[in-house]
Amino acid sequence: MSVDHASHEMRSIALLGATGSIGKSTLDVLRRHPDRYRVHAVTANANDTALAAICKDVEPDVAVMVDTDAAERLHRSLASLGVSTRVEQGEVALEAVAREESVDTVVSAIVGAAALLPTLAAAESGKRILLANKEALVMSGDLLMRAARKSGALVMPVDSEHNAIFQSLPAVETGVSTEGVEKIILTASGGPFRETPLEALRVATVQQALAHPNWSMGPKISVDSATLMNKGLEVIEACRLFDLSADQIEVIVHPESIIHSMVRYVDGSVVAQLGRPDMRTPIAHALAWPERIDAGVAPLDFSEVSGLHFEKPDLQRFPGLRLAFEALVAGGTAPAVLNAANEVAVDAFLAGDVAFLQLAEIVERTLVHAKSATQPDLSTIIQADAEARAIAVEQLGQLASHGGATG
Ligand code: NAD
Ligand code: MG
Repeated sequence: MSVDHASHEMRSIALLGATGSIGKSTLDVLRRHPDRYRVHAVTANANDTALAAICKDVEPDVAVMVDTDAAERLHRSLASLGVSTRVEQGEVALEAVAREESVDTVVSAIVGAAALLPTLAAAESGKRILLANKEALVMSGDLLMRAARKSGALVMPVDSEHNAIFQSLPAVETGVSTEGVEKIILTASGGPFRETPLEALRVATVQQALAHPNWSMGPKISVDSATLMNKGLEVIEACRLFDLSADQIEVIVHPESIIHSMVRYVDGSVVAQLGRPDMRTPIAHALAWPERIDAGVAPLDFSEVSGLHFEKPDLQRFPGLRLAFEALVAGGTAPAVLNAANEVAVDAFLAGDVAFLQLAEIVERTLVHAKSATQPDLSTIIQADAEARAIAVEQLGQLASHGGATG
């Protein structure tokens, strides 16, 4: 190797959501570069067994368990393993590690709205944020990006599409520029039900919804990928990250998941980022940018790629994508309402309480019934999130009494 890494400053990492799918991929990349990265803190919700194994492996200074009982158990098992990691508990501790002065990089890999406050804390404290979580950005309006701009925090997208867009835009000192961009083209795999007729979607099972053809991910985003709500959330995410409007985003289904997204410029040029569907690529990119580090991902061999295909998304079968565009255009608290209702609906679907096609129905009904506020501040957003959850639960009850999960 001709590159000398010895001169690199050691970076200190807080990994929020360490036990999840993104958490695991991040740890895999970090393990390959002990000369560059040190894990200061790891966090998880309630899985103390998984967090104990991570602590034994990487020996962070701090481990945060949100669940109190799980924190007790983690404390006991680390003591018996002889691991000196300090155990902290609760949401306040989560925010504290994101603000911690000795930390320069915060990986936001918690699923759902629970990531909002810790990610905002990281944005306010000028960190490099590896943003995998999309729900926080969707619900936050422009709060998160404004906080980042004010503190000088660098938001590095980890979501593969947004990381691809970042890589396809010209770099400037503070990140990337969108000058000359005509459209962002977000690619979507189409999920496990891309070719499933509407009739069959009525009886789609949890197991079928979780079986993504190209990516291995946590349960919530897997269900979102099956409804295309994930792509809807990503449209909003792209507008927030790159300061674009809804009409500057186009979604195209690309079943091979080789092109992770593209940027079309006013001169007709299209710039894309390609690679294997492996989250370690965007994670490594976001960690090292503007440098490049090994991610452990095998090279993409074009002689093995049988073809690249594209088709329009079907908004009849997948109304989640349409609803997200509508919430984006409505603005204010509408995206927060969309996200909260979707989280409630996905939980209910995973528990077997609603049918697949009712997911979008719950979201649509909640959007209709929720009050909306323009230019919301943080407390208005948190309130809108809570109200939307209550409405969604109510709608869920009504749908269940009319047939439940069998539709
Ligand atoms: P996951 O379910 O595998 O892991 C979620 C993590 O969040 C776990 O560590 C869990 O302990 C933690 N967590 C859950 N609820 C929490 C709470 N209330 N408070 C604190 N921590 C909590 O999820 P994932 O698939 O790794 O996805 C994480 C985020 O990254 C999501 O927002 C998802 O949309 C995004 N993302 C994931 C992928 C992927 O390939 N998995 C790709 C792009 C974006
Ligand atoms: Mg994505």
